[in-house]
Amino acid sequence: MRKKLVAGNWKMHGNLAENNELLNAVVSGVAGLRDASVSVCVPYPYLSSVQATLRDTNITWGAQNVSQYDKGAYTGEVSTAMLKDFGCTYAIVGHSERRTLFGEHSKVVAEKYLAAQNAGLIPILCVGETLEQREAGTTEKIIEEQLKAVIALAGVDSLSKAVVAYEPIWAIGTGKTASPQQAQDVHEFIRSGIAAQNAGVAENLTIQYGGSVKANNAAELFAMPDIDGGLIGGASLIASDFIAVCHALQN
Ligand code: PEP
Repeated sequence: MRKKLVAGNWKMHGNLAENNELLNAVVSGVAGLRDASVSVCVPYPYLSSVQATLRDTNITWGAQNVSQYDKGAYTGEVSTAMLKDFGCTYAIVGHSERRTLFGEHSKVVAEKYLAAQNAGLIPILCVGETLEQREAGTTEKIIEEQLKAVIALAGVDSLSKAVVAYEPIWAIGTGKTASPQQAQDVHEFIRSGIAAQNAGVAENLTIQYGGSVKANNAAELFAMPDIDGGLIGGASLIASDFIAVCHALQN
């Protein structure tokens, strides 16, 4: 059976006191969950304290970005080995905010994906279209190109050690969610495209949906056959909301 995963993406939010309060509530709120994985991707400076809080729990943690370089004169960058030092399981790569606000194109995203895997991290590879691209009918073409860059560099088999997150850009942080059927259609497109290259990898690949997932819409999204959990922004900052989203995975 495919692994289901809910991962919080805190973005650039939080402080030590708030993070502790949030995580302590989440730890007890998801303690009884079976068959579902929960993770939080936090700002780099908090990795140490998050590691200390989550070490003996059923919640894993990760980062929201990582350098494609191993080490060297790359001021401001954080390497995969540094993330491993703090016990990270996941690194998000190619989040649309990185692609659009920080100019990360698909080739760089692919390099980050491969660097993460080479270090033993699981990349959460984000793909998704803008509203203009959806309206122009190019959603599938855009997603295909984003995936192709990664497959060209790392090979299709690499997806057996990765998570893909379909995040329509028009749904991120906007309160507009893709309908379950809209999301399912893209997830199915992703899975069938990969299946054409390796059926086993496609069948076992965790494909998350991300984009304004909340307590009140998570269950219907997660009930779709190709949606294996979610990448959660805003709702991951509110303990009761995040816990409810995690529980929706089991329904
Ligand atoms: C995200 O940051 O990946 C995200 C999906 O954000 P939100 O849930 O706030 O739309």
